[in-house]
Amino acid sequence: MYEAVSVDGFVKPRDRNFLVLTKYKGLFGNLSNAQETAGKNGSNERRMNMYQKEQLQALEMVRQHMDLLEKGSGISGFDLNAHISDYLVFRQDVEDFFRKWFEQLCSENCYSSRRSACCSRDGIIAFWADVVINARRSDSKELDRLEKAIRNPEKAYKCIFLTESGCAWRIKPIVCEMFLCSEAEQTVFGAHADARTTWRELEERKKRFTWPDQLVLFEVLEKIFMDAGCDSPLMYMHKSPGLLRLIRQRKPTSPL
Ligand code: SF4
Ligand code: SF4
Repeated sequence: MYEAVSVDGFVKPRDRNFLVLTKYKGLFGNLSNAQETAGKNGSNERRMNMYQKEQLQALEMVRQHMDLLEKGSGISGFDLNAHISDYLVFRQDVEDFFRKWFEQLCSENCYSSRRSACCSRDGIIAFWADVVINARRSDSKELDRLEKAIRNPEKAYKCIFLTESGCAWRIKPIVCEMFLCSEAEQTVFGAHADARTTWRELEERKKRFTWPDQLVLFEVLEKIFMDAGCDSPLMYMHKSPGLLRLIRQRKPTSPL
């Protein structure tokens, strides 16, 4: 079994690295063992560890229930489609920011040497909403590819979603999108105060979708599927004691 860790650290933008590793520490050692035992009975199917099973189960559930997004858009006081559109604009802005300020540095430090240091972690936390939004923006071929990556990761000791052609997500998890190693951060922000300012603004914008001190997209996307009977450990908005506390504390005027 893996060590249970809350995602309370989600509140602190500076702590974003906290989200990434600890929960699944050690599991990819298991993954490696699983790969070694693969093919025992002539099958290509490898034994999946808990992390893979959770990711696969979430993806399958989301794919089966995508029609809920249309029904769920009727939640009182919350325009789901507008929030998803705003979120995608935000994601594009983050991408543009990275392209402008970090692409060259990351290419020199990591991509050109195929080190993919950002993706060399034991496991990443994907939220239920990450799975839903990605599924909404992907075609079935892309989702099949994602499913294949979960079942049969290409690279032991790296993120299971990292394939020869890059990340298998079309809209990668928000934790990955907002990750910066400290070296890159110091290099760019040390020389460009305006980049640091923009980054802080982006971190604040992220909270409008992910931080439930008010009703946010990431929470609503869990609620819609929960109401239809889905359940997953990836539903951190409704599973993390810290995030649940925040939801309870917010003003009673918030819908839901
Ligand atoms: S943020 Fe850091 S670790 Fe990630 S790709 Fe850029 S230089 Fe490499
Ligand atoms: S999900 Fe994609 S971006 Fe995130 S660590 Fe894995 S391969 Fe890298």
